[in-house]
Amino acid sequence: MADFSMDLNEDQITLRDWLHGFAEGVMRPAAAEWDEREETPWPIIQEAANIGIYSTDFIFNAFSDPTGLSMVVALEELAWGDAGLCMAIIGTSLAVAGIAANGTPEQAMEFIPQCYGTPDDLKLAAFGVSEPDAGSDVSSLRTRAVYDAATDEWVLNGVKTWISNGGIANLHVIVASVDPELGGRGQASFVIPEGTKGIRMGQKFKKMGIRASHTAEVILEDCRIPGRCLLGGKEKLDEKLARARQGIKTGGQAAMKTFENTRPSVGAQALGIARAAYEYSLDYAKERHQFGRAIIENQAIAFKLAEMKMNIDASRLLIWRAANMAATGKPFLNGEGSMSKLFAGETAVRVTEEAIQILGGYGYVREYPVERWHRDSKIYTIFEGTSEIQRLVIARAISGVHIK
Ligand SMILES: Cc1cc2nc3c(=O)[nH]c(=O)nc-3n(C[C@H](O)[C@H](O)[C@H](O)COP(=O)(O)OP(=O)(O)OC[C@H]3O[C@@H](n4cnc5c(N)ncnc54)[C@H](O)[C@@H]3O)c2cc1C
Repeated sequence: MADFSMDLNEDQITLRDWLHGFAEGVMRPAAAEWDEREETPWPIIQEAANIGIYSTDFIFNAFSDPTGLSMVVALEELAWGDAGLCMAIIGTSLAVAGIAANGTPEQAMEFIPQCYGTPDDLKLAAFGVSEPDAGSDVSSLRTRAVYDAATDEWVLNGVKTWISNGGIANLHVIVASVDPELGGRGQASFVIPEGTKGIRMGQKFKKMGIRASHTAEVILEDCRIPGRCLLGGKEKLDEKLARARQGIKTGGQAAMKTFENTRPSVGAQALGIARAAYEYSLDYAKERHQFGRAIIENQAIAFKLAEMKMNIDASRLLIWRAANMAATGKPFLNGEGSMSKLFAGETAVRVTEEAIQILGGYGYVREYPVERWHRDSKIYTIFEGTSEIQRLVIARAISGVHIK
């Protein structure tokens, strides 16, 4: 029995090295500029599209790796390049994951290519769940979707907030409540195709980190979409609602289904930032001399680096395990998806903070990338489930108790 291996296969190594080249050659040199500009970095997305990173094919290939590792390996490299630019490139894939998790195969074939467009005609997509009064508590969404049988259309009204690519996306996937009395079980996901009236951007947020990624409110006012834009179809939704009304357990909330699958990928981005900060501060500690010796010769500094490396490796192991479990259909019985995101997110915050400490004053100024990495890292303990919510998921999974 020599089945167990943590070696990447040839395809995965090729993918990793290719993306590392892009991260090093294209993303790193542009990162500080787009952090300052706080705008969608179209030239970088364009370059990613030109070489096939920003494309339907890329996402299909990464998702179809039976080991599940391609996606997380890819994201670690891109976030190592720069987390803000990485989010700008992969923000669209959140909507894609929403379509893939909740749509029929026909809907996936129709809508996913529309999320990316082509290198000659780039498109963006956004996935909108969060609302001003429904962040962690996604069961309390107020955005309503009402079916108009006369025209076979859905009519959406509500406000989404903190949406990556929100309002500038060509296609939005919106999670809305069809039957508010059923809470999370009364929700469904809808595609709002390009050119639909009644959807617009609200305020754009100025952020602490990942500033190259656009984050904004999305306002839906009598937004009418064809019946076929309900992901999964009406028949399936009606059955789900009927089961929920009878109190029969259903397959889970639409939004949660997407988040569960994407958590290792979110963790992988945090891992990329942490690795960037660790590598940089390791090199720095060997070069920087104080008191006539390299600062790494002090245990106080060397032990920090030892701790950073250990936590980075542990993050990767948790991420690879969760990604592999998701790809091979093993259920997250102990909240393994949440564990990977939680551990990697908190590691990234700690490691980048220690990196600042190792660089001293140089770590605190914008001439060096380390303070940016720290600012970027913090979002990984907040979005796609805060650290507290991840702990809740794990605690409930291991205990079977509905811990509050
Ligand atoms: C940059 C950015 C990009 C984002 N992108 C998207 C996106 O593309 N699509 C999207 O839908 N959303 C997106 N979000 C929203 C994000 O997922 C939410 O911010 C997140 O889920 C937390 O919700 P909240 O901000 O309302 O915080 P709240 O839910 O109000 O939480 C506030 C605090 O209370 C804690 N808390 C809440 N409930 C509990 C509990 N039961 N037990 C213990 N502690 C609890 C939280 O952990 C947190 O510390 C984005 C957010 C940001 C900042």
